[in-house]
Amino acid sequence: MAARTGKEFLERLSQSRPTVHIQGETLTGGIQEHPAFRNVVRTYAELYDLQHSDEHKDVLTYASPTSGEPVGTSFLTPRTSDDLVKRRKAFKVWADHSNGMLGRTGDYMNSSLMALASAADWFAQANPAFGENIRRYYEKAREEDLLCTHTLIPPQVNRAVAGTQQAGGKLAARIVKEDDNGVVIRGARMLATIAPFADEMLVFPSTVLRGTPEDKPYSYAFAIPNDTPGLRYIAREPLDYDRPRHDHPLASRFEESDCVVVFDDVHVPFERCFALGDAELCNGFYSQTASVVHMTHQVVTRTTAKTEYILGLVTLLTEAIGIEQFQHVQEDIAEIITTLETLRAFLRAAEADAEVNEYGVLTPAWAPLNAARNLYPKLYQRFPQILRKLGASGLMATPTELDITGPAAADIEAYLQSATLTGAERVKLFRLVWDTCISAFSSRQALYEYYFFGDPVRMAGAYVKSYDREPYKAKVQAFLDQHSLERS
Ligand SMILES: Cc1cc2nc3c(=O)[nH]c(=O)nc-3n(C[C@H](O)[C@H](O)[C@H](O)COP(=O)(O)OP(=O)(O)OC[C@H]3O[C@@H](n4cnc5c(N)ncnc54)[C@H](O)[C@@H]3O)c2cc1C
Repeated sequence: MAARTGKEFLERLSQSRPTVHIQGETLTGGIQEHPAFRNVVRTYAELYDLQHSDEHKDVLTYASPTSGEPVGTSFLTPRTSDDLVKRRKAFKVWADHSNGMLGRTGDYMNSSLMALASAADWFAQANPAFGENIRRYYEKAREEDLLCTHTLIPPQVNRAVAGTQQAGGKLAARIVKEDDNGVVIRGARMLATIAPFADEMLVFPSTVLRGTPEDKPYSYAFAIPNDTPGLRYIAREPLDYDRPRHDHPLASRFEESDCVVVFDDVHVPFERCFALGDAELCNGFYSQTASVVHMTHQVVTRTTAKTEYILGLVTLLTEAIGIEQFQHVQEDIAEIITTLETLRAFLRAAEADAEVNEYGVLTPAWAPLNAARNLYPKLYQRFPQILRKLGASGLMATPTELDITGPAAADIEAYLQSATLTGAERVKLFRLVWDTCISAFSSRQALYEYYFFGDPVRMAGAYVKSYDREPYKAKVQAFLDQHSLERS
């Protein structure tokens, strides 16, 4: 097989039978027809179609090293700087399609799988079979163009104790049995985005394990089909209310479901396992394989696209109501421009300083990407704030599409016009601003960006610990010592 079309994506989904609990219903299929999912599924199908469009196919695909067929660029193992640039351009095409609002497009996990498979020798340290398994799985994902979701953290029951100690060790997903063919997993993981319409679930190592014997059952990495028996998803209330695109322009296209993941004695065959019972290995899963670097390369490209969208939106908004010339408005716009240029500079630096790692993969420089992933969770929070401040009451003067064509049409034309727009045009624009900064969809986006890479507080702690500050300390110390010398 090769890079999928939208139709092929939908066909595979129609054959999949994931168990999804949603608003009192239990679905075992028919995901693409369900009102909670059908719109976002259609948007995902559009992404797959882009892989075959004349405009984008050269960037979005490359020739598979095994079949020669075009496969998705996010699977490309970068060896040259052209490869890295091609990967970034491909990320950008998909990110632009949703203004960066889709966080879990396939290229995110594909980037991770590419890096993990390149580091197959690292997995083989524990067991040669694991190295072979990750390599084979990556090839399968690439050739079948699978859409993967992932789940990492244990349920949020009591964060004062380790995940392994929740409810006497009977809560977080863990290995409860091993048989001749594989392992059995019981318990839960907190969240998996896009789970109802993904093809596969990657159950990857949880946040730092201590490496004690108690951690053993919680130390694993594996991949299973989304409709594996015993696997259940509990979806949150959908934020796509199945309203017209005019009224909910973002939620009606880009609403990615988030689900709690329950493992009810799920059997995982050995050939689907990449690590088992080895906490130390699991703790190095992302950093030692450079998987986190390639994932962040995709994420910073996406957040750049999102920031471009915010800048375009705020410009339309301020021009529409004639507030561009006020200095505090310009200060806010300057903040968005600065964020955009900062992200672009990080991406450029990461690519310019890329180095070939021990597995022969050209790997973007981690320092600028790490800085970007520490900054964006906070920087993004300012965007909805700025839009709300500048949009003000206009964000409430937002009748629906039916009003624009209904009995209120003349009033809307007369009283809701703006400096540059007709009444209908202004309402359309302000509904988009509303869906970016006020609606439930927009709140979920803000929460998502804040927690994207984990808790920013603990991420900052890890950042400080891992950053080599010795040269700077020595520099200042030398300056201090120089003072003493000059005095004596
Ligand atoms: C919209 C959305 C989608 C998501 N999608 C996915 C997904 O697809 N797959 C996936 O695996 N995960 C997903 N996540 C989960 C995400 O990885 C977590 O939100 C993130 O890792 C933070 O963990 P938590 O939510 O359990 O917060 P908690 O760890 O429970 O933290 C809650 C609060 O307590 C504080 N706190 C807790 N423990 C400590 C501590 N030890 N030290 C200091 N402070 C502490 C935190 O600072 C924070 O303020 C998603 C989250 C969101 C919001």
